[in-house]
Amino acid sequence: MRTNVIVIGAGAAGMMAAGTAAERGYSTVLLEKNDKLGKKINITGKGRCNLTNDCTPEEFLKNVPTNPKFLFSAINSFSPEDTMRFFEQHGLPLKTERGNRVFPVSDNAFHVTDTLRAYLMKTGVKIVNATAKHILVEDGRVTGVETDQGRFDADSVILATGGASYPTTGSTGDGYRMAEEIGHSIKPIQASLVPLESPDAFCERLMGLSLRNVTVTLRNKKGKAEYTELGEMLFTHFGLSGPLILSASSHMREQEGTVYIDLKPGLDDAKLEKRILSDFEKYKNREFRNALYDLFPTRLAETVAALSGIPGNTQVNSVTREQRQALKTLIKAFPVRISGRRPIAEAIITSGGVATKEIDPHTMQSKLISGLYFAGEIIDVDAYTGGFNLQIAWSTGRTAGYSIGRSEEK
Ligand SMILES: Cc1cc2nc3c(=O)[nH]c(=O)nc-3n(C[C@H](O)[C@H](O)[C@H](O)COP(=O)(O)OP(=O)(O)OC[C@H]3O[C@@H](n4cnc5c(N)ncnc54)[C@H](O)[C@@H]3O)c2cc1C
Repeated sequence: MRTNVIVIGAGAAGMMAAGTAAERGYSTVLLEKNDKLGKKINITGKGRCNLTNDCTPEEFLKNVPTNPKFLFSAINSFSPEDTMRFFEQHGLPLKTERGNRVFPVSDNAFHVTDTLRAYLMKTGVKIVNATAKHILVEDGRVTGVETDQGRFDADSVILATGGASYPTTGSTGDGYRMAEEIGHSIKPIQASLVPLESPDAFCERLMGLSLRNVTVTLRNKKGKAEYTELGEMLFTHFGLSGPLILSASSHMREQEGTVYIDLKPGLDDAKLEKRILSDFEKYKNREFRNALYDLFPTRLAETVAALSGIPGNTQVNSVTREQRQALKTLIKAFPVRISGRRPIAEAIITSGGVATKEIDPHTMQSKLISGLYFAGEIIDVDAYTGGFNLQIAWSTGRTAGYSIGRSEEK
């Protein structure tokens, strides 16, 4: 089969790229190895799909820790505002929530995939259920793709196979191998936006406990703070998870460190002292182990009491000033040791990927092979939570689809 453009991967980036190329009049084939499109989109944002962040390109780039400069052109040509306009114009009403996170009004991620599928139908993209095996190159120019269904010839190929996380959605890292095979460098891939493991047994006891309005600080082994933020986190059977922890993981340079949780960020030392004294007055005849239930949920109260160094059977009215000071220190910096990240299969995104220095940031075209383009998570860029990663897919997909033909004509 011969066509102008082949897009490999019907995820967020691939669908946007294919529709854009077809809209410009190019015959376009979209290869997808799953029998369904957009499997990963359907599970994003806990099934609600946080499809972008309603912010300016400048604010956007502040949320991209890896290679933000590479994205400058793509984000400015197809910004979060353009994404919102695109989906609304294609019949998907949107709403903006806390932190400028944008969701479909329906709270249904499937509706994002449905909208893209309708866009592909309208623009005449041919969808083929096939697994790409190799990208074919002759004399430094792309000539097509070899798949498990045979060979497809094309003038341009857009590689949009995603990362290596949540492999059941189809993102199994095939694209890294295909790109490497034709000479591209792959920056080492690793889990990002991923839960963290802890050897501390109390995590398992606190499993399922979610803490809102706490400040999390991640320190490396030398004690240097790598991340600090106010928000929500969760204890699990293996350690820690939740939005703050996922974000902290993308700042983590080493495998080990310590997360310090300020359990009462709204109370400074004086206010916390006052609060503890008032509770101690109320419960002066109790044992200390039973004195923190007004401050914390039951299991956390028990854990804080156990870790405070104050014997549990101490009569509350005989807790010393020094012991109270140690308790305050624990409450303001509750330590959880970190022994590593959860496996890449459990990561929201994969960091690393095709080296940005080998891709033209204005077109997403390979600097090594004419007619080859990249889009989405396969590129060595990643962002924090908040709709930024899908925006990277939309912007780079749009840029690649829009550059077909144009950049090669130069
Ligand atoms: C649980 C979860 C929740 C998330 N929530 C959000 C969120 O709310 N907001 C946000 O911004 N980001 C979120 N993300 C991240 C976001 O989903 C990804 O960054 C984004 O989907 C990447 O898009 P992509 O098109 O590059 O890759 P993918 O979506 O991974 O798509 C790649 C496609 O390529 C196909 N493919 C792979 N290899 C081949 C091959 N050899 N031949 C043919 N097809 C192939 C795959 O089957 C897949 O369909 C979430 C991720 C996860 C895992």
